[in-house]
Amino acid sequence: MAQIGFVGLGNMGRPMAGRLTEAGHAVRGFDVSAPAREAAEAAGIPLAGDLAAAAAGADAVFTMLPAGEHVRAVYCGEGGLLAEAESDALLVDCSTIDLATARAVHEAAAERGFAMLDAPVSGGVGGAEAGTLTFMVGGGADAVARGEKLMAAMGRNVVHAGGPGNGQAAKMCNNMVLGVSMIAVSEAFALAERVGLDAQTLFDIMSTASGQCWSLTSYCPVPGPVPASPANRDYRAGFTAAMMLKDLRLARGAAQANGANTPLGSHAAALYEQYCADGEEGSDFSGIVRMLRGGG
Ligand code: NAD
Repeated sequence: MAQIGFVGLGNMGRPMAGRLTEAGHAVRGFDVSAPAREAAEAAGIPLAGDLAAAAAGADAVFTMLPAGEHVRAVYCGEGGLLAEAESDALLVDCSTIDLATARAVHEAAAERGFAMLDAPVSGGVGGAEAGTLTFMVGGGADAVARGEKLMAAMGRNVVHAGGPGNGQAAKMCNNMVLGVSMIAVSEAFALAERVGLDAQTLFDIMSTASGQCWSLTSYCPVPGPVPASPANRDYRAGFTAAMMLKDLRLARGAAQANGANTPLGSHAAALYEQYCADGEEGSDFSGIVRMLRGGG
């Protein structure tokens, strides 16, 4: 069993650290937020007093933080992981962050001799609680081999996407498709409604025709056809519109910085900006159908 530091005990980090604890690892968690620490302690996760104490003696340190700036501070800041972690510790950042920061932190870690992985996840809080996350992993094969068992304690799939940053690249490409496809499916239902085509009938046809996709068949944005989808609970998240917007912005930023042509991805970001500006940041991202329908 390994000794593991876990930094960032929020909605995702807490259940992930919980899975590692349940798997028998000696976890030491840390979060800057007192409520997050209290919730983690109540969930049975042993706490460290600070970042350095979470990293001391750890075979691996996981981070699950909001955005690139937090990751840069936790790794490269004064008293950060690159200064405090054991020299042979494996560093695994599971946050969803911008590609440029992910690659810069990898480089800083490599300069100090650390093995590091970027390993963003999909599956949400439910997947973190159930231990069914998918990890999209960027970094060297040796580091992946070292981290695989630990990630498997928190997820069902661990996919090596290539070198440093490629985990983030995979996550951002996937979620760009998700945002665009959710808008496309929502537009189809809005159009069908206007032209007198019943939603269930459209679903039955499209789900076995070439318009079939996950946004339709697993997460249908209108109530009825997929009983478990957030549309059936007034678009309570699920996966919030704010998170979708964050991911679309990451894709747009990477496209701009690297000369990729992603006009639909950019337009999807603009539509989610509009939806969030309407006060819907906390709603499920499939609720954008309401804006597209023009029904409020
Ligand atoms: P969250 O805001 O609930 O948790 C982040 C935690 O990091 C907070 O508790 C915060 O206090 C802590 N933190 C911030 N700076 C810190 C520092 N310097 N040191 C220690 N702790 C610090 O966010 P979340 O929902 O858990 O998401 C975490 C990451 O996972 C994000 O990058 C998000 O995009 C990604 N993600 C989230 C979901 C989801 O459904 N929530 C799904 C997939 C990926």
